[in-house]
Amino acid sequence: QKAEWAKLKDEKTLSADGVEFMTAANIGTPKDLDGVLENGAEGIGLYRTEFLYMDSAEMPTEDDQFAAYKAVLEGMNGKTVTVRTMDIGGDKDLPYMPLPKEENPFLGYRALRISLDRTEMFRTQLRALLRASAYGKLWIMFPMVATLPEFRAAKEIFEDEKSKLIAAGVEVADGIKLGIMIEIPAAAMLSDKFAKEVDFFSIGSNDLIQYTMAADRGNEKVSYLYQPYNPSILRLIKMTIDNAHKEGKFVAVCGEMGGDPIAVPLLMGLGLDEFSMSATSILQARSLMKKLTTTEVKELALKAIDLETNDEVKALVEATVAGK
Ligand code: PEP
Ligand code: MG
Repeated sequence: QKAEWAKLKDEKTLSADGVEFMTAANIGTPKDLDGVLENGAEGIGLYRTEFLYMDSAEMPTEDDQFAAYKAVLEGMNGKTVTVRTMDIGGDKDLPYMPLPKEENPFLGYRALRISLDRTEMFRTQLRALLRASAYGKLWIMFPMVATLPEFRAAKEIFEDEKSKLIAAGVEVADGIKLGIMIEIPAAAMLSDKFAKEVDFFSIGSNDLIQYTMAADRGNEKVSYLYQPYNPSILRLIKMTIDNAHKEGKFVAVCGEMGGDPIAVPLLMGLGLDEFSMSATSILQARSLMKKLTTTEVKELALKAIDLETNDEVKALVEATVAGK
């Protein structure tokens, strides 16, 4: 099987009936690039920049960040690199930026909420990204967006830093796309509105499941509620994809579902554009997708969203892909 997968390294991601999808990689640091290239990723669907902050003893400077972003953009040689602005808080802490202890950190001061509050830190990150944009194809996305005003505020700060850099004569790429992660049910529910303003969506299924099921993704006692195939989750994803496509916008999944062999046929059937996953899953996913027609997965997805439980959906997918 490994040998069969390896042959797909330089191939496009196509369904059995020739419809093209994208398979991309999730990374945490520029060091992950080797694995990304070895596994034939068509882009980076999620660069989790918080590791840059977490792996450092002090706040990374604009130049430190610029160097990391530039290395990734250059390493990807013109393929899209989707960088997520820092997602600190929740379970991720910084030694040099102590955050107040909270009763419910996953429902608290986290990600874009911090960026919009500590705007100097956010502006520094955006300047580093804007300067790096000249070295490749950069898309930027904001984590944990719940409301339209949050997106608009982040975009305004981005545009402000962009015009300042341009006025100062710094080279900045044209056509940097700005997107949001869909990982809070409120954003999925209003995805028709968001789709008119953002350039793309990337569904963070890990958090979307946690918040939809109201089950802490790290708590063993409630891990049975972490149900990626629950029809409630599939319906939110379907709504998000349909609303994006109505506005001609692109949708990725960058949570664990993006590379999960049970979720992949369902997401294909829902019309997802990009599957972003750990690099080591890419060839397996590409191989699976090549065996499935869009007609059969569409039918599968429509049946699945009308079922009642996670286990029923899982059994249906297994029966459909069995022997492929
Ligand atoms: C997600 O929530 O699915 C996601 C990709 O973000 P993270 O796992 O970093 O929270
Ligand atoms: Mg998340």
